[in-house]
Amino acid sequence: MSKKVRVRFAPSPTGGLHLGGVRTVLFNYLFAKHYDGDFIVRIEDTDQERLDPGSEKAIFEDLKWLNLNWDEGPDIGGPLGPYRCSERYDIYKTQLKRLQKVARVYRCFCTPDQLDQDRKLLSSQKKVIKYVGRCLHLSEDESEKRAKTENYVWRMHIPAGDPVVVNDVIRGRVEMSRDVIGDFVLCRANSIPVFLFANAIDDALQEMTHVIRGEDHLSNTFRQVLIYQALGHETPVFVHLPMIGSEDGGKLSKREGSLSIGDLKREGFIPAGITN
Ligand code: GLU
Repeated sequence: MSKKVRVRFAPSPTGGLHLGGVRTVLFNYLFAKHYDGDFIVRIEDTDQERLDPGSEKAIFEDLKWLNLNWDEGPDIGGPLGPYRCSERYDIYKTQLKRLQKVARVYRCFCTPDQLDQDRKLLSSQKKVIKYVGRCLHLSEDESEKRAKTENYVWRMHIPAGDPVVVNDVIRGRVEMSRDVIGDFVLCRANSIPVFLFANAIDDALQEMTHVIRGEDHLSNTFRQVLIYQALGHETPVFVHLPMIGSEDGGKLSKREGSLSIGDLKREGFIPAGITN
């Protein structure tokens, strides 16, 4: 591999570390070690409503207890920090401005109620659920004027074109039609980014070579690829790991072993027992 491998674990501090998370860490950690690369921890705390104040500390403690140490992170710093999203708002603002120059990014004033009605209507017509484009054609003047008194979000316009392709290491070539993607939200009015925007910007600017994460994020990846492309960032290699499932193929419940590392510790498991 020509470039130094850089991979990351990017937990949202909304609770403690569970077995599924540890599995994602292990793939990243072992991959970094194998290629003599860097393993980075980034805390994705953009969703302030779901934040659990003690969980960042608990995640760090559990990772250390499991002997899965990192090369860069919020607690130890590093050359491409900060490593906590809430400390990177200026960066997202700058990137949003860059994006506004190269893509059609527009203010959307639709209220949650309006969007909900749109969704219901589209669903009753058996159409793809996506933003209907109500604010796409607002003039700059009107948009500026309404921004003074109304709430809004920034959306990126996705014009018609070839399907968006993700070449995933595990899934192979997967594609999504631009029609299905629709104009998606990047940031709220106060420039607080939505998860998928912050996550793509951070992976690009922190020079991740590989993004190894659960396959529940695959659907976000198509939008993220469009952001990378618009900003001229090289896309990382994507590796979407199948989730650990229950025996009947459903979501792993607590009873079936979706335990937190804290629970396992209390039950007497040793770190090597868990990572094995
Ligand atoms: N913060 C995301 C999560 O906890 C991780 C996203 C990613 O790994 O790209 O699910």
